[in-house]
Amino acid sequence: MSSQIDLKIIESESTFLDPRAGFSPSKVRFQVRLDPLTGRTCHFSHFGAIKPQKLDLENYHDPDVKGFCPFCPEKREKATPKFTPEIFPEGRLARGEALLIPNLFPYDIHSGVVIMTDDHVVPLNGFTRQRLKDAFSLGTGFLRHIAALDPSLPYHLMTWNYMPPSGGGLVHPHQQYFATGFPGNQFMDELEASKRFYLENKQNYWHTLVSQESAGGERYIGQTGRGQWLASFTSLGLLGEIMCIFSDVFSIADLMDSDIDDLISGLLRVFRFYENTGIFSFNASFSLGPAGQDHFCCYFRIVPRTFLNMRDFAPDLNFFQAILSEPICVVLPEDLCRDIKPYFE
Ligand SMILES: [Zn+2]
Repeated sequence: MSSQIDLKIIESESTFLDPRAGFSPSKVRFQVRLDPLTGRTCHFSHFGAIKPQKLDLENYHDPDVKGFCPFCPEKREKATPKFTPEIFPEGRLARGEALLIPNLFPYDIHSGVVIMTDDHVVPLNGFTRQRLKDAFSLGTGFLRHIAALDPSLPYHLMTWNYMPPSGGGLVHPHQQYFATGFPGNQFMDELEASKRFYLENKQNYWHTLVSQESAGGERYIGQTGRGQWLASFTSLGLLGEIMCIFSDVFSIADLMDSDIDDLISGLLRVFRFYENTGIFSFNASFSLGPAGQDHFCCYFRIVPRTFLNMRDFAPDLNFFQAILSEPICVVLPEDLCRDIKPYFE
């Protein structure tokens, strides 16, 4: 019999004398959920209290706001670095509008950047299937190339900051691709917990999760080819988290062109949902485990980002995330799933 993943919710409430109701007692409910894989806690509270803020995208064209952009086509040749000949004799690689360059400020031994578009400002509806395909194919091709050149770096990652609320330093769309021994604490915790689950239960956690969530339906969004989309039970983002799990992909060696197509098919739906709900910014990652294992599946994760207001540009991360390493979310995954599901039907 297959094991069940334990989905634990601790429901609580706080009572205070409410100035908005003549100081009569007011009860406010909140939840703490345990990430079923890592056991880390996540607070769900303040439901519906935070709305994503509209960004004035036109404003990013203003020369004073724009400043110097090395990713704009007329600046690229002079301002962006080239790979050394051992990596790519061509220096830089292009595919459609996408251009692969090394990071001028590398985070790791192999730190690539894919400039995704010629346009400096690209709204969500400007990410066509072709643009996304070119960027993801070029970037994952880079990871495949590095994996062959340097197998000592076992983990492979795409990361993407889109628009300033996400922490992105440049508005011009770009993704970062890493081959690394140190893919971050979240990745390593999930990798180790996946192995533990596998040893204890003789099952792949991600396979069990997908089968359990698709049977339950409350957080299961839908399927695009080999990609299975879920609203995560806990969320690293304030406005909810969406994951796409590729059950048959464990390392970069298993990733097929069709998986990129499947990812993009779902991502375009997520973008339509974001546009209709006023989301203008996000962080995303695409995480690939080491070769030679079958307990850690490749996944894509995306969380919306927003300023809390456009008056003083307060960010949506605070001491909880920065100091306590505790995610806070104001959207229940079950509500997120219900709202986005029609986009996948
Ligand atoms: Zn630019």
